[in-house]
Amino acid sequence: MDDRQLWDSGAVRLKGLLADLPGEDGLKLTRLLTRYRKTKEAIAAVVEEVGAAFVCLECAGQCCLNGKYRINGFDAMAHVKAGMTLPANFNQKPLCPYGTVAGCSMEPGLRPADCILFICDAIDGKLPPQDRSLLTAHEQDLRECIRKASRLTGEQLGTPLLLWAGQDGEKNKSKV
Ligand code: SF4
Repeated sequence: MDDRQLWDSGAVRLKGLLADLPGEDGLKLTRLLTRYRKTKEAIAAVVEEVGAAFVCLECAGQCCLNGKYRINGFDAMAHVKAGMTLPANFNQKPLCPYGTVAGCSMEPGLRPADCILFICDAIDGKLPPQDRSLLTAHEQDLRECIRKASRLTGEQLGTPLLLWAGQDGEKNKSKV
C-alpha cells in the first residue's frame, strides 16, 4: 500500500474503533479525546505567549520537513471524532504532507502530539522556568491520554498512523 492508501485505511479503521466501543468505554474515549485536544491547545498557548509565531516565521518551519510519521493513531482519531477530513499531500516532499506555505494545516488542538511537544532551541531559550514545569505536566497528560485510549481500544494508538495502518489489527491487539 502507498501512503495515501495507508492513510485512508487507517481513517476507516479508526472510524470503526470509535463506532464499536460501547457505553461507558465509548464515553471514556470521548472524554480522553477532549482532554487530549484541550491539553494541546494549552501547550500551544504557552508557546504562543513567548512569541512562537514570530520565531516560526523567521525560521520558515525547518522542523516541519519530512513530518509524515508525526501523526499518531490517537491524533488521527481526534480528527475522525471531530468529523474532519485529514489533510495530507504526500507529493510535496520534503515539506510535511500536512503543511502548507502558510504553516501547518491543522489547528493546534488537532496537531500531532509530537509537533505540539517539540520545542526548538530558539523557543526554549525564551521559556521562563514556570512554563517549563507546566509544559512537562502537559506532556505527561498527553502521554497518559494515549496510554489510556490504547488500553480502552486494545490498539497501540501512539504508533504513527501510517505504520499502525499497515499493521495487522488483530496481531497488534495482543501487544497492548
Ligand atoms: S503536522 Fe503540522 S506542525 Fe507537524 S510537522 Fe507537519 S506541518 Fe509541521
